[in-house]
Amino acid sequence: MRDFPLQRIAWFLCVWSCCTSLHAQARPGKLRPFPRSVLPLERDYLISAEADGSPLAAGSKINVRLSSGKQYDGLIVGDVQPGKDAGSFRSITFERQAGLPSKLQVSTMSLIQEGDRQFEVLSDPASKAWVLLDQQKRDKVAAERLSKKGRLLWTRPSAEDAAAAIEESKARFAKANELFPGSQFFLTETAYFLFYTDMPRNQVAGYIANLDAMYDQLCLMYGVPTGENIWYGKCPVLVFQDQSMFLRFEDAVMGYVPAGPVQGLHHGFSDGKVFVTVYRGDDPAFFAAVLVHETTHGFNHRFRSNSGLPNWVEEGIADFVAGAVVTASPETGVRQREAADRVRVSRSLGGAFFQPDSPLQRWQYGAASSLVSVLIQRDPNLFRAFLVAMKEGYTWEEALDLTYGLKPEELLQLYARAIGVPGVQP
Ligand SMILES: [Zn+2]
Repeated sequence: MRDFPLQRIAWFLCVWSCCTSLHAQARPGKLRPFPRSVLPLERDYLISAEADGSPLAAGSKINVRLSSGKQYDGLIVGDVQPGKDAGSFRSITFERQAGLPSKLQVSTMSLIQEGDRQFEVLSDPASKAWVLLDQQKRDKVAAERLSKKGRLLWTRPSAEDAAAAIEESKARFAKANELFPGSQFFLTETAYFLFYTDMPRNQVAGYIANLDAMYDQLCLMYGVPTGENIWYGKCPVLVFQDQSMFLRFEDAVMGYVPAGPVQGLHHGFSDGKVFVTVYRGDDPAFFAAVLVHETTHGFNHRFRSNSGLPNWVEEGIADFVAGAVVTASPETGVRQREAADRVRVSRSLGGAFFQPDSPLQRWQYGAASSLVSVLIQRDPNLFRAFLVAMKEGYTWEEALDLTYGLKPEELLQLYARAIGVPGVQP
């Protein structure tokens, strides 16, 4: 891990305050698995299956991760059937070894590892074959672009650093016990989360299931291979039953006093660690949505690099995922409808909506998640590339152009068409 001073780089202060207008709404649909195909932006990072240094040379010893998360280690490459375009391939067979398959469908593969190098397996619809993307090559180009902006790619923490980060989170949880000695807190530890709360034990499982569903949904949206741990150790989530305890902890331990009504916060640190705090309040469905929304900010913080996303994308994704995962909460749909009603009258998104650092007003969250929905519905594969491009140092306008081939005005008109309002201004 690089030596990087510990400080906060972002407070994602969200204006989740209880909404009472819970009329029936269409919710944003959950994204289903889709084929990962290579995009024009990614062609520079491809490595020919026949090139020197290809992990598919006969006799290469490789690990193969499937899209399902299952992994086979130590496969030895036998025959590779080339595709019609140079460098592509159609099938791979492996030497016979006890307990290992001698053939795998390429369509089921997501990653190939050889030594410390990693290659993504992507479909190439043009040649109806498969291609390999050299992650090391991609990282080098992305790191150069990011360094010009004073940003960097996250590196995977060592096992020791990850374990130390988990202990650090537990020590921060313990501060809650010190502050509130009369309350009973307990820890639930899963593969990706540390969930610490004073809620009754029988209430916790459903909320953790929401966080797991959030994790799966974001991996799918961003192209993170199944089974990959994106966190620095694990993601710590501290949930209080009461607002007063949440506010006191924020002030005393996190050094923060929220300026307005806030039910949850994500703290993202410059060394890649995160910390999520939320209070439950008395609306379980709303709380579940806030929890997913804030933890999505944590995922965004950890994804690929420390380059931030523009606010409308950041909040739009957090609300989109909350709506997709927390089926009991109508909140995302309510906000989308409120934003559409407002835009129908004003014919405007408020003026500063698309400025990357412009804080969103409450009603603008609905427009932000609708824009994310519009982009995902148009092409989820392009949405993945749009996200990755921003995290690899392109501005959002450049990323939108390089992936969807759209200008911001054209995106705005797609939203305008989706809500049936012609001629909307930014
Ligand atoms: Zn937020």
